[in-house]
Amino acid sequence: MSLETHAPAPAGAPLIHGEPLPLEFANTVLPVRGELRNGIGTPEQLAWWLTACGDRIATPLSGHVLHAITSADIEQFAALRHATRGLLDSRVHQCPPHPWDVALVNRVSSVGRPWPQLLWTDGAPPSVQDVCTAPPLVRVQVEIAHGLIELLSGGSGVELRACEAPGCVFFFDHTRSRRAWCSTGCGNRARVARHYARRQARSQAART
Ligand SMILES: [Zn+2]
Repeated sequence: MSLETHAPAPAGAPLIHGEPLPLEFANTVLPVRGELRNGIGTPEQLAWWLTACGDRIATPLSGHVLHAITSADIEQFAALRHATRGLLDSRVHQCPPHPWDVALVNRVSSVGRPWPQLLWTDGAPPSVQDVCTAPPLVRVQVEIAHGLIELLSGGSGVELRACEAPGCVFFFDHTRSRRAWCSTGCGNRARVARHYARRQARSQAART
């Protein structure tokens, strides 16, 4: 498994949209015949996604860490994404969130917080060093949770939107594109769908 940034995506890996980290994470699903398939459901897919989003992840991820991804890691990311998508959906549609989603994101957010450790030995003045013992992949989840909380509470400057193209399930930052779609491809599909709907309406009107 190659982990270079430009390594080819493994089969079934999610598209990379360049969105803020919590939205990029929410978009790690693939709509297949009306169902959402997990785009980071294998160690190879998750390692590739983490590498591809390296410009938005502060936690250093070594090749050793990316090669040691376990099924438990996959499940943790999937659970966080489920809550993330639920909360983003509630925000977009202005409906109450599921309390479990709020609780899960808050629990992840509180994990592995660095604490100040006093360093004071003979011959040196006292100093402080931040210590964090959480594993790197957990710290990435904490980063996502922090970013999500900031985004949902309005502190990030992100204008959250859900793509309006037929069948699309992705979220995006409206300030980046000022469009109703997450991508050019979705924009084209939406235009084709509108054109088709207008043609259907015209032919129906002609028949009546
Ligand atoms: Zn879309």
